[in-house]
Amino acid sequence: MTIQSNHCLIANRRAVLAEIEAQRQSAAAQQPVQLIAVSKTFPDEDIRILAADGQRDFGENYIQEFAAKSEALADLPIVWHIIGQIQSNKSRVVAERAQWVHTIDRPKIAQRLNEQRPDNLPPLQVCIEINIGGEDNKHGIAPDEAELLALAQAIEALPKLTLRGLMCVAKAGSNQTELNQQFLRMSELLRSLQAAGLKVDVLSMGMSADMDTAIACGATHVRVGSAIFGSRATANNKETK
Ligand SMILES: *Cc1c(COP(=O)(O)O)cnc(C)c1O
Repeated sequence: MTIQSNHCLIANRRAVLAEIEAQRQSAAAQQPVQLIAVSKTFPDEDIRILAADGQRDFGENYIQEFAAKSEALADLPIVWHIIGQIQSNKSRVVAERAQWVHTIDRPKIAQRLNEQRPDNLPPLQVCIEINIGGEDNKHGIAPDEAELLALAQAIEALPKLTLRGLMCVAKAGSNQTELNQQFLRMSELLRSLQAAGLKVDVLSMGMSADMDTAIACGATHVRVGSAIFGSRATANNKETK
């Protein structure tokens, strides 16, 4: 497990926040940009340190890990964002404890979350994941207006879900031009939903390595892990990409 000093985590978070602001200004970006600290594989204690410094939004990929962390940290005012795939048999804990799900890519999972969302909680805020680079090993729907609108309308019909916008992970190994193309396409897809009358305003895109480009292309939520927490140790790396 990576050992982080408090000082390092806090300094890293503040540096990322400063970078977000600098990039908004240099790109003349109009939209506010939220930082989601992606804490997957890192311990509860790191999250406590960052929460004490004012970080409110955290992202988790693995549902079992999320279940344990959300229970252990229930005393903190954290906004939890699920940014990994949800298997149907693990959706309940997400419906009960998360505020956001960024990875809706089929009606079935949206329907389950809607059924399982407790009545006393506000609607779950959700994004549709787009496989923007057309990669075989990535989740998300194709970047196609008709397919997107159909899924968006299916979600709109669910009372305990609120569709907020779109999410993507850029294609691995993209150069600057390719990153720009993918993120601008995301922005176009969001506008296509707006043109169809849907009240969507979120573009969840940009990670440690491509956050600047994403912000210039309209990202409203960046999901940043390693630039805050350090690199995820291989021995501890549960990613299955
Ligand atoms: C891990 C992960 C991130 C954060 O990636 P970094 O490169 O560590 O910033 C963002 N989004 C998703 C979907 C992830 O799986």
